[in-house]
Amino acid sequence: MSTRIAFLGLGAMGSRMAMRLLQVGHVVTVWNRSPAPAQALAAAGARHALTPREAASGAEVVIAMLRDDEASSCVWCNTETGALAGMQPGALAIDCSTLSVDAVSRLSQACAAAGVSFLDAPVSGSRPAAEAGQLVHLVGGDAPAFERAAPLLRCMGAAAKHVGPVGHGALAKLVTNTLLGVHVTALAELIGLLREQGVAPEAVLDAVSSTPVWAPVDHYVSGSMLRAEFSPQFPVALMAKDFGYILQAAGGGARMPTAAAALSVFRLATRLGLGAENMTAVARMYERAPAQPRVGEGQGDA
Ligand code: NAP
Repeated sequence: MSTRIAFLGLGAMGSRMAMRLLQVGHVVTVWNRSPAPAQALAAAGARHALTPREAASGAEVVIAMLRDDEASSCVWCNTETGALAGMQPGALAIDCSTLSVDAVSRLSQACAAAGVSFLDAPVSGSRPAAEAGQLVHLVGGDAPAFERAAPLLRCMGAAAKHVGPVGHGALAKLVTNTLLGVHVTALAELIGLLREQGVAPEAVLDAVSSTPVWAPVDHYVSGSMLRAEFSPQFPVALMAKDFGYILQAAGGGARMPTAAAALSVFRLATRLGLGAENMTAVARMYERAPAQPRVGEGQGDA
Protein backbone atom coordinates (compact mmCIF):
# COMPACT_ATOMS: atom_id res chain seq x y z
CA MET A 1 0.00 0.00 0.00
CA SER A 2 1.30 3.40 -0.96
CA THR A 3 2.06 5.88 1.84
CA ARG A 4 2.47 9.68 1.58
CA ILE A 5 6.00 10.22 2.87
CA ALA A 6 8.11 13.35 3.37
CA PHE A 7 11.87 12.66 3.34
CA LEU A 8 14.12 15.36 4.83
CA GLY A 9 17.89 15.27 4.28
CA LEU A 10 19.30 13.86 1.05
CA GLY A 11 22.98 13.41 1.84
CA ALA A 12 24.95 10.26 1.10
CA MET A 13 22.54 8.08 3.06
CA GLY A 14 19.23 9.95 2.79
CA SER A 15 19.30 10.22 -1.01
CA ARG A 16 19.69 6.44 -1.30
CA MET A 17 17.00 5.71 1.32
CA ALA A 18 14.50 8.08 -0.31
CA MET A 19 15.18 6.46 -3.68
CA ARG A 20 14.30 3.03 -2.22
CA LEU A 21 10.94 4.38 -1.02
CA LEU A 22 10.22 5.88 -4.43
CA GLN A 23 11.17 2.68 -6.23
CA VAL A 24 8.57 0.62 -4.37
CA GLY A 25 5.79 3.07 -5.26
CA HIS A 26 5.38 5.35 -2.23
CA VAL A 27 4.39 8.96 -2.82
CA VAL A 28 7.52 10.81 -1.70
CA THR A 29 8.08 14.53 -1.17
CA VAL A 30 11.71 15.46 -0.59
CA TRP A 31 13.51 18.40 0.96
CA ASN A 32 17.22 19.12 1.36
CA ARG A 33 19.04 22.22 2.63
CA SER A 34 20.97 22.54 -0.64
CA PRO A 35 18.63 21.97 -3.58
CA ALA A 36 20.69 19.81 -5.98
CA PRO A 37 20.05 16.41 -4.33
CA ALA A 38 16.32 17.14 -4.17
CA GLN A 39 16.29 17.98 -7.87
CA ALA A 40 17.91 14.60 -8.62
CA LEU A 41 15.17 12.80 -6.64
CA ALA A 42 12.52 14.94 -8.35
CA ALA A 43 13.81 13.68 -11.70
CA ALA A 44 13.08 10.16 -10.40
CA GLY A 45 9.48 11.04 -9.50
CA ALA A 46 9.58 12.74 -6.09
CA ARG A 47 7.90 16.05 -5.36
CA HIS A 48 10.41 18.75 -4.35
CA ALA A 49 9.39 20.94 -1.41
CA LEU A 50 11.11 24.20 -0.51
CA THR A 51 10.93 23.84 3.28
CA PRO A 52 10.62 20.91 5.72
CA ARG A 53 7.25 22.36 6.74
CA GLU A 54 5.97 22.31 3.16
CA ALA A 55 7.27 18.75 2.66
CA ALA A 56 5.57 17.55 5.85
CA SER A 57 2.17 19.09 5.09
CA GLY A 58 -0.22 16.26 4.25
CA ALA A 59 2.37 13.53 4.84
CA GLU A 60 1.35 10.44 6.81
CA VAL A 61 4.97 9.74 7.72
CA VAL A 62 7.94 12.13 7.85
CA ILE A 63 11.44 10.62 7.80
CA ALA A 64 14.66 12.58 8.46
CA MET A 65 18.26 11.59 7.72
CA LEU A 66 20.43 14.49 8.83
CA ARG A 67 24.00 15.03 9.91
CA ASP A 68 23.71 15.73 13.63
CA ASP A 69 21.71 17.11 16.58
CA GLU A 70 21.88 20.68 15.33
CA ALA A 71 20.59 19.82 11.86
CA SER A 72 17.83 17.62 13.26
CA SER A 73 16.62 20.27 15.71
CA CYS A 74 16.58 22.94 13.02
CA VAL A 75 14.75 20.78 10.45
CA TRP A 76 12.06 19.44 12.81
CA CYS A 77 11.55 22.29 15.27
CA ASN A 78 12.08 25.65 13.54
CA THR A 79 8.80 27.41 14.27
CA GLU A 80 8.60 28.99 10.79
CA THR A 81 9.95 26.33 8.45
CA GLY A 82 10.29 23.14 10.55
CA ALA A 83 8.52 19.88 9.76
CA LEU A 84 6.55 19.79 13.01
CA ALA A 85 4.90 23.09 12.10
CA GLY A 86 3.43 21.39 9.02
CA MET A 87 2.58 17.92 10.33
CA GLN A 88 -0.97 16.83 11.08
CA PRO A 89 -1.80 15.40 14.52
CA GLY A 90 -1.67 11.60 14.28
CA ALA A 91 1.13 11.57 11.72
CA LEU A 92 4.35 9.66 12.42
CA ALA A 93 7.83 11.23 12.67
CA ILE A 94 10.90 8.99 12.25
CA ASP A 95 14.43 10.30 12.69
CA CYS A 96 17.01 7.92 11.17
CA SER A 97 20.00 10.23 11.83
CA THR A 98 22.58 9.24 14.43
CA LEU A 99 21.77 11.66 17.26
CA SER A 100 22.61 12.06 20.92
CA VAL A 101 20.22 10.53 23.43
CA ASP A 102 19.45 14.01 24.81
CA ALA A 103 18.52 15.33 21.36
CA VAL A 104 16.24 12.35 20.73
CA SER A 105 14.53 12.95 24.06
CA ARG A 106 13.96 16.64 23.24
CA LEU A 107 12.63 15.78 19.79
CA SER A 108 10.28 13.18 21.23
CA GLN A 109 8.85 15.81 23.59
CA ALA A 110 8.37 18.28 20.72
CA CYS A 111 6.55 15.59 18.72
CA ALA A 112 4.29 14.75 21.67
CA ALA A 113 3.41 18.46 22.03
CA ALA A 114 2.41 18.50 18.34
CA GLY A 115 0.31 15.32 18.70
CA VAL A 116 2.71 13.38 16.49
CA SER A 117 4.05 9.86 17.16
CA PHE A 118 7.83 9.52 17.18
CA LEU A 119 10.49 6.85 16.61
CA ASP A 120 14.27 7.14 16.70
CA ALA A 121 15.45 4.70 14.06
CA PRO A 122 19.17 5.19 13.30
CA VAL A 123 20.79 2.75 10.95
CA SER A 124 23.74 0.40 10.86
CA GLY A 125 25.25 -0.01 7.39
CA SER A 126 26.90 2.43 5.02
CA ARG A 127 26.28 3.77 1.52
CA PRO A 128 26.24 0.42 -0.35
CA ALA A 129 23.81 -1.02 2.24
CA ALA A 130 21.57 2.05 1.88
CA GLU A 131 21.57 1.67 -1.90
CA ALA A 132 20.76 -2.05 -1.72
CA GLY A 133 18.11 -1.70 1.00
CA GLN A 134 20.27 -3.71 3.40
CA LEU A 135 20.43 -1.30 6.37
CA VAL A 136 19.62 -2.45 9.90
CA HIS A 137 17.33 -0.01 11.74
CA LEU A 138 17.77 0.18 15.51
CA VAL A 139 14.44 1.52 16.70
CA GLY A 140 13.28 3.23 19.88
CA GLY A 141 9.64 4.09 20.53
CA ASP A 142 6.32 2.53 21.46
CA ALA A 143 5.09 -0.71 19.90
CA PRO A 144 2.16 0.74 17.87
CA ALA A 145 4.45 3.31 16.23
CA PHE A 146 7.01 0.61 15.49
CA GLU A 147 4.36 -1.64 13.87
CA ARG A 148 3.20 1.29 11.76
CA ALA A 149 6.74 2.09 10.61
CA ALA A 150 7.97 -1.47 10.07
CA PRO A 151 6.82 -1.88 6.42
CA LEU A 152 8.58 1.38 5.46
CA LEU A 153 11.73 0.50 7.39
CA ARG A 154 11.78 -2.84 5.57
CA CYS A 155 11.84 -0.96 2.23
CA MET A 156 15.08 0.71 3.30
CA GLY A 157 16.65 -2.08 5.31
CA ALA A 158 17.09 -5.80 5.73
CA ALA A 159 15.99 -5.68 9.37
CA ALA A 160 14.26 -3.39 11.85
CA LYS A 161 15.08 -4.14 15.50
CA HIS A 162 12.75 -2.70 18.11
CA VAL A 163 15.22 -2.07 20.93
CA GLY A 164 12.96 -0.37 23.51
CA PRO A 165 11.41 3.04 24.26
CA VAL A 166 12.44 6.32 22.65
CA GLY A 167 16.19 6.90 22.98
CA HIS A 168 17.13 3.23 22.98
CA GLY A 169 17.55 3.21 19.20
CA ALA A 170 20.06 6.06 19.55
CA LEU A 171 21.88 4.27 22.35
CA ALA A 172 22.05 1.03 20.36
CA LYS A 173 23.49 2.91 17.40
CA LEU A 174 26.10 4.71 19.53
CA VAL A 175 27.10 1.40 21.13
CA THR A 176 27.49 -0.10 17.63
CA ASN A 177 29.70 2.76 16.45
CA THR A 178 31.78 2.77 19.64
CA LEU A 179 32.65 -0.89 19.05
CA LEU A 180 33.34 -0.21 15.38
CA GLY A 181 35.44 2.89 16.06
CA VAL A 182 37.59 1.13 18.66
CA HIS A 183 38.28 -1.62 16.13
CA VAL A 184 39.26 1.02 13.57
CA THR A 185 41.69 2.87 15.85
CA ALA A 186 43.22 -0.38 17.17
CA LEU A 187 43.75 -1.87 13.70
CA ALA A 188 45.27 1.41 12.43
CA GLU A 189 47.81 1.38 15.27
CA LEU A 190 48.56 -2.34 14.92
CA ILE A 191 49.14 -2.15 11.16
CA GLY A 192 51.47 0.82 11.77
CA LEU A 193 53.33 -1.13 14.43
CA LEU A 194 53.72 -4.25 12.28
CA ARG A 195 55.10 -2.23 9.38
CA GLU A 196 57.50 -0.44 11.70
CA GLN A 197 58.71 -3.80 12.95
CA GLY A 198 59.40 -4.87 9.38
CA VAL A 199 56.61 -7.46 9.47
CA ALA A 200 54.08 -7.89 6.64
CA PRO A 201 50.74 -6.99 8.27
CA GLU A 202 48.83 -9.06 5.69
CA ALA A 203 50.37 -12.31 6.94
CA VAL A 204 49.92 -11.51 10.63
CA LEU A 205 46.32 -10.32 10.26
CA ASP A 206 45.48 -13.36 8.14
CA ALA A 207 46.66 -15.53 11.04
CA VAL A 208 44.79 -13.42 13.61
CA SER A 209 41.63 -13.67 11.52
CA SER A 210 41.54 -17.41 12.19
CA THR A 211 41.26 -16.77 15.96
CA PRO A 212 38.08 -15.96 17.91
CA VAL A 213 39.22 -12.39 18.67
CA TRP A 214 38.70 -11.35 15.03
CA ALA A 215 35.38 -9.58 14.37
CA PRO A 216 33.60 -9.80 10.99
CA VAL A 217 34.02 -6.06 10.37
CA ASP A 218 37.81 -6.36 10.81
CA HIS A 219 38.08 -7.83 7.29
CA TYR A 220 36.62 -4.66 5.80
CA VAL A 221 38.51 -2.30 8.11
CA SER A 222 41.94 -3.91 7.72
CA GLY A 223 41.41 -4.49 3.97
CA SER A 224 40.68 -0.81 3.45
CA MET A 225 43.80 0.16 5.43
CA LEU A 226 46.11 -2.36 3.74
CA ARG A 227 44.97 -1.30 0.25
CA ALA A 228 44.97 2.39 1.31
CA GLU A 229 41.44 2.77 -0.08
CA PHE A 230 39.90 5.64 1.83
CA SER A 231 37.07 6.92 -0.38
CA PRO A 232 34.33 7.90 2.07
CA GLN A 233 31.78 5.34 3.15
CA PHE A 234 31.51 6.47 6.77
CA PRO A 235 33.69 9.56 7.19
CA VAL A 236 36.10 10.29 10.05
CA ALA A 237 34.16 13.44 11.05
CA LEU A 238 30.89 11.54 11.53
CA MET A 239 32.67 8.94 13.66
CA ALA A 240 34.09 11.74 15.83
CA LYS A 241 30.55 13.12 16.21
CA ASP A 242 29.23 9.75 17.39
CA PHE A 243 32.02 9.28 19.94
CA GLY A 244 31.16 12.75 21.27
CA TYR A 245 27.54 11.62 21.70
CA ILE A 246 28.36 8.37 23.51
CA LEU A 247 30.67 10.24 25.89
CA GLN A 248 27.92 12.80 26.46
CA ALA A 249 25.55 9.94 27.35
CA ALA A 250 28.19 8.56 29.74
CA GLY A 251 28.64 11.93 31.46
CA GLY A 252 32.21 12.37 30.23
CA GLY A 253 35.39 10.59 29.24
CA ALA A 254 36.31 9.52 32.78
CA ARG A 255 33.56 6.87 32.62
CA MET A 256 34.69 5.59 29.21
CA PRO A 257 38.45 6.06 28.85
CA THR A 258 38.71 3.68 25.88
CA ALA A 259 36.04 5.62 23.97
CA ALA A 260 37.67 8.92 25.00
CA ALA A 261 41.00 7.73 23.59
CA ALA A 262 39.36 6.69 20.31
CA LEU A 263 37.61 10.06 20.08
CA SER A 264 40.97 11.84 20.45
CA VAL A 265 42.28 9.82 17.48
CA PHE A 266 39.31 10.71 15.25
CA ARG A 267 39.50 14.37 16.31
CA LEU A 268 43.21 14.53 15.56
CA ALA A 269 42.55 12.94 12.15
CA THR A 270 39.92 15.61 11.48
CA ARG A 271 42.40 18.36 12.44
CA LEU A 272 44.93 16.80 10.06
CA GLY A 273 42.46 17.20 7.19
CA LEU A 274 41.14 13.62 7.05
CA GLY A 275 37.60 14.45 8.24
CA ALA A 276 35.88 13.82 4.91
CA GLU A 277 37.77 10.60 4.21
CA ASN A 278 36.63 7.15 5.26
CA MET A 279 36.95 6.34 8.98
CA THR A 280 39.75 3.89 8.09
CA ALA A 281 41.91 6.81 6.90
CA VAL A 282 43.08 7.22 10.51
CA ALA A 283 45.63 4.57 9.42
CA ARG A 284 47.38 7.34 7.49
CA MET A 285 48.46 8.88 10.78
CA TYR A 286 50.64 5.83 11.41
CA GLU A 287 52.33 5.71 8.02
CA ARG A 288 56.03 5.59 8.62
CA ALA A 289 59.15 5.29 6.48
CA PRO A 290 59.66 1.76 5.08
CA ALA A 291 61.07 -0.54 7.71
CA GLN A 292 64.84 -0.96 7.95
CA PRO A 293 66.27 -4.46 8.46
CA ARG A 294 66.25 -5.23 12.18
CA VAL A 295 69.31 -6.15 14.22
CA GLY A 296 70.42 -9.65 13.26
CA GLU A 297 68.77 -9.60 9.83
CA GLY A 298 71.17 -9.81 6.92
CA GLN A 299 74.11 -11.01 9.07
CA GLY A 300 75.98 -13.78 7.33
CA ASP A 301 75.06 -12.51 3.89
CA ALA A 302 77.96 -12.70 1.47
P1 NAP B 1 25.95 13.58 4.76
O1 NAP B 1 26.19 12.99 3.44
O2 NAP B 1 26.95 14.54 5.32
O3 NAP B 1 24.52 14.31 4.71
C1 NAP B 1 24.12 15.12 5.78
C2 NAP B 1 22.74 15.68 5.50
O4 NAP B 1 22.39 16.58 6.56
C3 NAP B 1 22.65 16.49 4.20
O5 NAP B 1 21.36 16.36 3.66
C4 NAP B 1 22.88 17.91 4.70
O6 NAP B 1 22.37 18.90 3.84
C5 NAP B 1 22.10 17.87 5.99
N1 NAP B 1 22.48 18.92 6.93
C6 NAP B 1 23.67 19.07 7.54
N2 NAP B 1 23.63 20.15 8.36
C7 NAP B 1 22.38 20.69 8.22
C8 NAP B 1 21.73 21.80 8.83
N3 NAP B 1 22.34 22.59 9.72
N4 NAP B 1 20.45 22.04 8.48
C9 NAP B 1 19.83 21.25 7.58
N5 NAP B 1 20.39 20.17 6.98
C10 NAP B 1 21.66 19.90 7.31
O7 NAP B 1 25.77 12.47 5.90
P2 NAP B 1 25.26 10.96 5.71
O8 NAP B 1 26.43 10.09 5.48
O9 NAP B 1 24.11 10.93 4.79
O10 NAP B 1 24.78 10.66 7.22
C11 NAP B 1 23.51 11.10 7.68
C12 NAP B 1 23.32 10.56 9.09
O11 NAP B 1 23.39 9.13 9.07
C13 NAP B 1 24.38 11.01 10.10
O12 NAP B 1 23.77 11.20 11.36
C14 NAP B 1 25.35 9.84 10.13
O13 NAP B 1 26.07 9.77 11.35
C15 NAP B 1 24.40 8.67 9.96
N6 NAP B 1 24.98 7.46 9.35
C16 NAP B 1 25.84 7.56 8.27
C17 NAP B 1 26.36 6.40 7.72
C18 NAP B 1 27.33 6.45 6.55
O14 NAP B 1 27.94 5.42 6.25
N7 NAP B 1 27.52 7.56 5.88
C19 NAP B 1 26.02 5.16 8.22
C20 NAP B 1 25.13 5.08 9.29
C21 NAP B 1 24.62 6.25 9.85
P3 NAP B 1 23.28 19.52 2.66
O15 NAP B 1 23.22 18.51 1.53
O16 NAP B 1 22.66 20.82 2.34
O17 NAP B 1 24.67 19.66 3.24
